[in-house]
Amino acid sequence: MTDCIFCRIIDGTIPADVVYQDEKVLAFKDIKPAAPVHILLVPREHIPSYNDLEARHSELIGHMALALNKIAAEQGVAETGYRILVNCGPDAGQIVYHLHYHLLGGKPLGS
Ligand code: 5GP
Ligand code: ZN
Repeated sequence: MTDCIFCRIIDGTIPADVVYQDEKVLAFKDIKPAAPVHILLVPREHIPSYNDLEARHSELIGHMALALNKIAAEQGVAETGYRILVNCGPDAGQIVYHLHYHLLGGKPLGS
């Protein structure tokens, strides 16, 4: 997807502060962090939103869950706590239509 900002980060055309990557996913710091730790985890495959996940993505979904677990530990928030969230669609305020998980932590996050 040439017009997708996260695909451009994945292919290296747009720079990002990458904190984790493997064959399936990339994680980088959010450009406008809402907390001391604010990481975005994206699949290398262009999946527009959570709505577009299919049965064939089952392994990827598990992979992303474990990657988030690992990133939380690496970012030093595994014990203090963190929040994982996905915005899906207009009412959730999804801005970038390439599936991404937010990992937030490093301070009390409120409710
Ligand atoms: P959402 O689509 O879930 O509302 O959030 C998109 C997130 O991507 C926002 O938190 C925004 O700050 C972040 N973001 C948008 N463009 C860029 C970018 O070019 N680089 C990085 N690192 N983050 C971005
Ligand atoms: Zn994309």
